[in-house]
Amino acid sequence: MARTFFVGGNFKLNGSKDSIKTIIERLNEAKLAENTEVVLCPPAVYLDYANSINKKSPQVKIGAQNTYTKAAGAYTGETSVAFLKDIGIEWTILGHSERRTVVAREDDELIAEKTKFAIDQGVKVILCIGELLEERKSGVTLDVCKKQLLPTIAKLSKEDWDSVVIAYEPVWAIGTGLAATPEDAQETHKQIRDFLKEKLGEEISQKVRILYGGSANGSNAVSFKDKADVDGFLVGGASLKPEFVDIINSRQ
Ligand code: PEP
Repeated sequence: MARTFFVGGNFKLNGSKDSIKTIIERLNEAKLAENTEVVLCPPAVYLDYANSINKKSPQVKIGAQNTYTKAAGAYTGETSVAFLKDIGIEWTILGHSERRTVVAREDDELIAEKTKFAIDQGVKVILCIGELLEERKSGVTLDVCKKQLLPTIAKLSKEDWDSVVIAYEPVWAIGTGLAATPEDAQETHKQIRDFLKEKLGEEISQKVRILYGGSANGSNAVSFKDKADVDGFLVGGASLKPEFVDIINSRQ
């Protein structure tokens, strides 16, 4: 099954009005590969601004980096999917490893709850999973990915999977300059897809896009081109740079 190539840009805690304008204008002016979906995720404060200056729609969309399990209430500092809907944002990243291990101790259950809530409210999810270096070294990469996915698999209906893109992001590759090899990424992506097939059936497993994330850049992206189960990238550092266009166009 042909899956539309997907590239997400995670700006993390970076940016300013000026730099976000530069990035969006660059994408608006660039010739981007057709049949490629792009979602830019600036910090929450800049979502409305980014959306207002993004003219490339529908190919380029703006997304959040995180949302909460409730629409409103006494949850200081959180971002509601209702806010996203209000300002016309269709996507959010959830379960990023920095939220799991650095800025918050988000666990698989919470991430599954957030994912279900976002989808129920009409916001699509880039769901991040991936193992730590110690886990890689002890050969439990797939076990970790399965454990991270299981609560979400239990919560989502079959239809909900139309609104999910999985980002496999080995934590040791994020921001380190040490990307997984295309062969290693393909092997894990295939195993994840096989797991989806076992749990959800052939159709969903073939439909869900699985992105690779971890030090993807304008030079290495093209080496993933012939990897059948790598359906795109979630990009951190390089999404802030001109080379992001090369990543978007790496499947041409
Ligand atoms: C990320 O933050 O999701 C990511 C993949 O970061 P980087 O590309 O900088 O490794």
